[in-house]
Amino acid sequence: MSQIVKFQCPHCNAPVDVNPEDAVFNCISCGQAFLSDGTEFKNHYILDNKLSQKQIRDIVKGFIKKKGFMRGIKGYKITKLEPILMPFWVATSDAYTHYVGYRRYSETKTRTVGSGKNRRTVTESVTVYRPVDQEIREKRVDVLLGRRGSSMYGYRKVKQILQSEFSHAVPFNHEKLMNTEKEFNYLSTEISLDAANQLAKTAVFDDHRSRAERACTKVFDCATQIAYTGTYFVHTPVWQIEYVFQDETYKIALLGSSGKIIAGEIPVTTRFRMTFLGITTLLFIGGGIGSYFLGADYILPIVLGVIVAIMGFFTLKNVFKTVSVVE
Ligand SMILES: [Zn+2]
Repeated sequence: MSQIVKFQCPHCNAPVDVNPEDAVFNCISCGQAFLSDGTEFKNHYILDNKLSQKQIRDIVKGFIKKKGFMRGIKGYKITKLEPILMPFWVATSDAYTHYVGYRRYSETKTRTVGSGKNRRTVTESVTVYRPVDQEIREKRVDVLLGRRGSSMYGYRKVKQILQSEFSHAVPFNHEKLMNTEKEFNYLSTEISLDAANQLAKTAVFDDHRSRAERACTKVFDCATQIAYTGTYFVHTPVWQIEYVFQDETYKIALLGSSGKIIAGEIPVTTRFRMTFLGITTLLFIGGGIGSYFLGADYILPIVLGVIVAIMGFFTLKNVFKTVSVVE
């Protein structure tokens, strides 16, 4: 067990409990971010939370109602509605890669051989090697979760969303956040600023290398240069929801900046199973009748049979699912 260290926030004088394993910690009274040595970290951003608990509850109910249609989901109970700030590192950079290699193609060529009566054309496949000399030049936004081996529901999707919506991130404002919801939970960050930059660098190298490999049969040389334009610590407001239906717990993750459902679990009810079992049965009966009338031709009934079997596989699969996941 690690020892908790006492720290006094130089901004608001509030006492802060710091876990020595945290690479970044926040003053929960004013929101200020600090690196583990106690220095302030200025590039602290957030995707603004725009929704209150009441609005989140309504979105969740609407989601269950819509997705639970035909499943007969009634009498569920929301047991958890927890707003958390997921910590991410975002490294922006100008990346440049120059790669050289070759690409092997197969080409069909037609040529004329012989003369007079023996004159004829032959088609042959020839292998062609072409040199490749290309550049990749791009402005990048690389996003990393600030925690190791996390099991937070929906975090992979949040990472993708942040990558595309980073331009909407604004400097962190504690008061503004508190106006929407007072209970936001700051999750600790274990990945340090240096480690984040190193991981971002590796991500750029790997991505450019794999793009070069896709463009070439063989890469001879691949050199990447990265110029960082900024490293940001970005909090993303995520609501973690749990609801209980027939003694089973289901999870939903909701993005507080847009109200979008990041991921959600929906119970597979008996009614849902029966519906799909019914559809599958009708499908096979329909296929059988169809084949009987198409009997004069022997290809069509086979084609129909294959189509019915494939569709039947997908409809029947729903009958045996334990839970539906909506993303
Ligand atoms: Zn403070």
